[in-house]
Amino acid sequence: MSHKDKEAHEVNKLSKRLHRQVGEAIGDFNMIEAGDKVMVCLSGGKDSYALLDILINLRQRAPIDFELVAVNLDQKQPGFPEEVLPTYLKSIGVPFHIEEQDTYSIVKKLIPEGKTTCSLCSRLRRGILYRVAGELGCTKIALGHHRDDIVTTLMLNMFHGGKMKGMPPKLVSDDGKNVVIRPLAYVAESDLIRWAEHRQFPIIPCNLCGSQENLQRAAIKAMLQEWERKTPGRIDNMFRAMGNIVPSHMMDKALYPFTTIKATGAAFEGGDIAFDEDEGCGPTPEPVRVIRLSPEAV
Ligand code: SF4
Repeated sequence: MSHKDKEAHEVNKLSKRLHRQVGEAIGDFNMIEAGDKVMVCLSGGKDSYALLDILINLRQRAPIDFELVAVNLDQKQPGFPEEVLPTYLKSIGVPFHIEEQDTYSIVKKLIPEGKTTCSLCSRLRRGILYRVAGELGCTKIALGHHRDDIVTTLMLNMFHGGKMKGMPPKLVSDDGKNVVIRPLAYVAESDLIRWAEHRQFPIIPCNLCGSQENLQRAAIKAMLQEWERKTPGRIDNMFRAMGNIVPSHMMDKALYPFTTIKATGAAFEGGDIAFDEDEGCGPTPEPVRVIRLSPEAV
């Protein structure tokens, strides 16, 4: 196989994987239904370009009918190349709306120099996007967060917030009026980087506001990438764990009635084992007889 053929083969595989993963995420979480009007939030970064690109392709072959509208919020950051997105969106023939709101000046006015501006900036952006979704009659708001963002958020919340809390693939917005979806939830960031290169998206730099990337998030991303390099598949395993939670083996009393469980005396065939095998304290113990919990307690 020539180098060119090999490259074409790899791109074809990547394209199939991306479309399959997005299709699966949409199906698994019932993200898009017949008659939906989906507002795709486009920042000019690789992830949101890929999201729009893949949704356009999936829409063409979807068994249901839904609409797409791309929305960009021009936050009036210095040097923002205003023409890039409209030119691209016209060239691919997708309906779009550019919302101009000078959140940059508000943030600069309210946040002292040297302090991080991202939390106020994203709060303002969120509010504007919710309003625009209502004005455009959109039923869903699609964001370009991917698998690695989701795992990074889980780690951030564990390390700094003492919470097992990630980033959901689908949620109802704070104001209760919008359903937010993340169709790239199953997609690895490395695939999005390769897809953006292949599709030659006109990427707009993301540091125009002059704010530093959130240092804690950057540190966790670097840590995850290092783990992945040493143990390929680790990010995927962590991601799958988020959809495979065993409340009886965690410690959240709101999710499992630890205080009221009682032994019934009957063994629970084929069920969970009372003592986990991989405790790292020597050889695996002999199988133990498991005491079944009373059904009403479970
Ligand atoms: S990096 Fe800049 S534009 Fe992005 S959220 Fe932070 S302040 Fe806002």
